[in-house]
Amino acid sequence: MISKISRLAFAALLSSVCLLFAQDSALPKPKPRVLVISVNGMEMDVLRPLLLEGKLPNLMSVIKRGVYGKLRTVSAPNCPRVFSTMFTSTSPEEDGVTGFIVGGVTANTNMLKQEPMWSILSKNHVSVGMANVPATFPVMPVNGYMVSGMLTRGKNCEDGVLCAPKLSETFGGDSVYPAALKNELIENVGDYYVDCERMPGAEDLRGHESEVINAWLKKVDVIRSQQTRLFDYLLNTHPTDFTWLGQSCEDRTGHWLYPIAPYNVGYNAKINAVREDAFPSQYIAFDKVLGGILKHIDANTYVFIVSDHGIKPLREFEDMDMPMNMHMDHEKTTPVIAKHDFADGDEVPGSFFAMGPDIKKDMRLMGLEVSVYDIAPTILHLYGIAQPAQMHGHVMTQIFETSEKNVAQK
Ligand SMILES: [Zn+2]
Repeated sequence: MISKISRLAFAALLSSVCLLFAQDSALPKPKPRVLVISVNGMEMDVLRPLLLEGKLPNLMSVIKRGVYGKLRTVSAPNCPRVFSTMFTSTSPEEDGVTGFIVGGVTANTNMLKQEPMWSILSKNHVSVGMANVPATFPVMPVNGYMVSGMLTRGKNCEDGVLCAPKLSETFGGDSVYPAALKNELIENVGDYYVDCERMPGAEDLRGHESEVINAWLKKVDVIRSQQTRLFDYLLNTHPTDFTWLGQSCEDRTGHWLYPIAPYNVGYNAKINAVREDAFPSQYIAFDKVLGGILKHIDANTYVFIVSDHGIKPLREFEDMDMPMNMHMDHEKTTPVIAKHDFADGDEVPGSFFAMGPDIKKDMRLMGLEVSVYDIAPTILHLYGIAQPAQMHGHVMTQIFETSEKNVAQK
């Protein structure tokens, strides 16, 4: 039987618990989860017919639940240039990462002259998880984990440019933070390939076109399935407030296997007629990866799908002089048929998709309303972090429903 004293003690306890809850409700809402999925070179011209045909059901579900459009990029865009601008919301010249090779050295995080968003988020007690994101090598300490992506150096990828070292064979800097996570990943995910396979050179292709192309595409499939396991493992076992996962094989496939009409510059039936499905199939495969990632989200999660640029077929006149030379620093001479480093980046905008608790539904952004510069300010804004003075971008106020998010004006 409960004594009068213990009943009083219980009542006191109950009222203090109630008080605790009352105080809790006065506290700010829990931190949102933000999931960024980046795809190198996501080209809206190729996405659209696939969406119409119902071949990208997961991406379509994001469109229906959110906002989508083109993402304005920087001039002469390439992966390290644009990703570093996304990280810092400053120009490539200001952040120091102006291309694949800067001052004779492969672009790396030690070159960053402006504070990247992962550092700002970490300082503000937001937990950060990043995996396979380009231009994050060597990894930097964060309030969470960082596993590097494209431009990671390693065996058979000594310069780190556009090649795929195994995680255990990376060198020249840390590829995983914290260091102990590296063995954990190798044990639980496998010794996966970082980034994507280097494109075969013209010499390798000559006389063996379909054999080489099919073998390369098979390796791309292997790499994608390994990276899918990586994402699934990290999302399951290391959930973070802010998570950024990257994919890079799509862009490389587009460069030399863009499904191009015979009368375009650079067309070579021996190569370009072998697998006309190769490039569109990359997006169909990505859509499956996306489906797996979306299983991890809840009503409190914002999802951003972004690309650094699109990719377009080579053009008459301006590209006739250098049709083989896509990335200036690419040591092989892969016969590319599409590119993205046109002087005017607006000609190859990236793609943008967003959905979340207070993001507008089924809305298309017209023209080039949002930019790669806006990614960092918008994400910081979701965590209530003021935009640092050096950032040039704007909070994407037009994508939010609530007036609370509409405070910052373009
Ligand atoms: Zn590219």
